[in-house]
Amino acid sequence: MTISFDLDDTLIPGMKRFPTESQRFWHRLVSREKLRTGTLTLMKALREQDCKIYIYTTSLRSPAYIRWLFLSYGIRLDKIINKTVHDKTLSGGAGTVSKLPPAFDIDLHIDDSPGVAQEGVRLNFRTFIVEEQDADWVSNVLKTIKSLPL
Ligand SMILES: [Mg+2]
Repeated sequence: MTISFDLDDTLIPGMKRFPTESQRFWHRLVSREKLRTGTLTLMKALREQDCKIYIYTTSLRSPAYIRWLFLSYGIRLDKIINKTVHDKTLSGGAGTVSKLPPAFDIDLHIDDSPGVAQEGVRLNFRTFIVEEQDADWVSNVLKTIKSLPL
């Protein structure tokens, strides 16, 4: 199973505020951006279930930067889709949809945006929307994954 994650306001605080993982020494050298508390636990659990972990962001952060940011926390990513990759893959259709997980064989996309959830309903892809205040988001994501048909 392939699971993708949005970055801004889902795993990295921006407009939304939530607790973040404690920083490690290496991390300070790579970035000032921090990951949401629970990210490490969740991604470890996904690895144990043989899930692939993708980042799907409409930001212009470079894939190399994103890869290093997660590696500094000890997390290996399978694929990074930024705005450039999204636009290239969808070519003509890229402007009409903010995210299209099925184009990258993603089974479940995790995001903070209700708009992405609406696109999922309209275009038939699965989403899990993380609420800003959801302290149980890790177990809620894992429950959702368990409920998916294989
Ligand atoms: Mg977002």
